[in-house]
Amino acid sequence: MRIVGRMTDPASPSLGKRRCNMSSLFDDLVSRYKTLNIAFPALKPVTLAQWILESGRGASPLATQHLNFGGLKWRSEMVGFATPVEHEAHDGLDFYCKFASLDAFILGYWKFLSRSPYKGWEERAAESPQAFMRFIGPIYNPAGDAYVNQVLALVGEATQRLDAALAVAQPQPPEVAGAPVVIVIDPGHGGVARTGGSSPNNAISPSSEQEKNWTLDFAKRTRAAVLAKALASGKNVKVVLTRETDVNLGLNARANVAKSKGAKLFLSIHLNGFDKQVRGVEALIGKVNINKAADRAFAQAIHDKVVAAMHRIDPTTLDLPTHRRGVKEQSLGVLNDIALGNTTSSQPCRACLVELEFMDVPAVDALLRLNPPQATMAEKTAQNRQQIADALADALLSQV
Ligand SMILES: [Zn+2]
Repeated sequence: MRIVGRMTDPASPSLGKRRCNMSSLFDDLVSRYKTLNIAFPALKPVTLAQWILESGRGASPLATQHLNFGGLKWRSEMVGFATPVEHEAHDGLDFYCKFASLDAFILGYWKFLSRSPYKGWEERAAESPQAFMRFIGPIYNPAGDAYVNQVLALVGEATQRLDAALAVAQPQPPEVAGAPVVIVIDPGHGGVARTGGSSPNNAISPSSEQEKNWTLDFAKRTRAAVLAKALASGKNVKVVLTRETDVNLGLNARANVAKSKGAKLFLSIHLNGFDKQVRGVEALIGKVNINKAADRAFAQAIHDKVVAAMHRIDPTTLDLPTHRRGVKEQSLGVLNDIALGNTTSSQPCRACLVELEFMDVPAVDALLRLNPPQATMAEKTAQNRQQIADALADALLSQV
């Protein structure tokens, strides 16, 4: 990341002047940042200092045209948070992130830091905001220590701006009271050994990609999409994944996560495989089931949204009458009511399992695979997977 489009000397702020004409956009950003809850609130001043530097207090073309106050270049992991836009900065033409709103930028900045080059920042953040910036700064900008020192010199101004933002409170989203609604997302399969009835992998794509890796990617994308959409709509939700890495959990253990977290919704994500030709989306609910009607409504919402997303991704499926495979009942350990925490007297959790598509079909592999040979294809398949994740997020939030 480089300093782009900086128009003023950030070392000599003129606070009086900017209030009048510099950037009410930047003031709006400060107000939103002050209002939003982030995981490490103590990092607000130091990250705002970075945005002051990167955007020239909101005056850079990237900020004014694309709401990108961080000079964030485009990365495929930003799908769902931003869209790519070509932009000419001092170091040449490149793709940058374009954000749809101030909130999208703030969330997108933190999403950007969740990428692998920045792994480990949470530990530094626990030390101090300065340690955090000394860690991420040299990754963010090749100027290294010089860049970090420029940012740290602006922390005072950033703190002042955040304090002052109280006085110019912006319209805020509806305050969400009470405990968050918990959603558990279960990426099917994982690891290398069969565990508690759960096989390490089931379906395999023609390019030899494994279902267990697709399910984890879909689960993580869906979590991010749910959180972003919930924030935008003022819904108070918490998303828990049953696994974050390539490990297997037993079927009861997966359902038990819903019970222990007090989840309202449990969604297990899978992909089908059959004869390399049959395609379609289906959702499964438990056959012996205390709250079958509620599960069915949930499963239908998931099914319909995924079908619609697949229609957009691949219009040929519109002509496939069998593409809507519907909601089916099956005896599945991962949907066991007792393990989910549902009893005859109380049914807090609605659960279903979705089979997103048949990943053994070459056309589906080409649309969704994780590691296609070319970068342009990777961009496209990531966008397709994001569309499905967005559909799952919409369906989940429609039930909250
Ligand atoms: Zn499966």
